[in-house]
Amino acid sequence: MKVELINHTEHPVEAIERAASTCYDSQPSGEGRIMRHCYRSGHHSVLEFADFTFRISGVSRALTHQLVRHRMASYAQRSQRYCREDGFDYVTPASVAKDEQAQKTYTEAIRAIKEAYAGLLRSGIPAEDARMLLPNACCTEICVKMNLRELIHFCNERLCSCAQWEIRAVAREMVREVVAVAPELKEFLVPKCEAHAPYSFCTESRSRSCGRHPLLADVIREP
Ligand SMILES: Cc1cc2nc3c(=O)[nH]c(=O)nc-3n(C[C@H](O)[C@H](O)[C@H](O)COP(=O)(O)OP(=O)(O)OC[C@H]3O[C@@H](n4cnc5c(N)ncnc54)[C@H](O)[C@@H]3O)c2cc1C
Repeated sequence: MKVELINHTEHPVEAIERAASTCYDSQPSGEGRIMRHCYRSGHHSVLEFADFTFRISGVSRALTHQLVRHRMASYAQRSQRYCREDGFDYVTPASVAKDEQAQKTYTEAIRAIKEAYAGLLRSGIPAEDARMLLPNACCTEICVKMNLRELIHFCNERLCSCAQWEIRAVAREMVREVVAVAPELKEFLVPKCEAHAPYSFCTESRSRSCGRHPLLADVIREP
């Protein structure tokens, strides 16, 4: 898996604060004070003034299917209609890799799919039809642009331990890339249980909760 931040608003905090300052007849604070105030007070539309574009490669189609459910982002993905996928790379989950028999079954199934896919192409079947055989594990590449508001929402959902391991790993890498250019944003790019820090709480059920923070049901008493 590779996650690269390939483009971003040059000074994201300043861009957000400049937009917010229009509303308040103020000046950008320069160090995120106004941005933090907007975030905490629910004035989240100003967070849309900073954009981040990532190139994500070496991930599965299973991952990108989850990613593209986030509708407030822009995407460009490697096409299985226009690109031939013979010899495709694939993702192997750790649960499979650590089990010798499972790994053998997995590898054999992938090999069979590769042979069948290549055979269909050789016999003149168009790539857009042959791709029906390709597995969720097939590696792909995708570009995604999110504004900060969507990136925060994405992190809230996908850094949670209830999210699937591959999209959590991608979310962590996206955060790492963004924080490298804008360290002030780190406090916002957190799982949803920490979105209201220091009042951290978990909205998942007891059986799904990772236990890092108290359950909402345990901190809020029913009237
Ligand atoms: C742990 C986990 C498990 C999941 N399991 C499943 C599953 O089993 N099956 C499944 O189908 N999906 C599943 N999903 C995907 C989930 O249902 C959402 O499609 C996905 O997380 C995108 O989130 P979103 O719709 O909140 O936000 P986005 O599409 O990223 O949009 C951001 C926000 O914009 C607003 N918004 C966007 N579009 C609209 C709209 N049309 N109307 C009003 N407001 C809008 C909402 O406030 C939304 O939260 C899962 C997600 C997670 C995190």
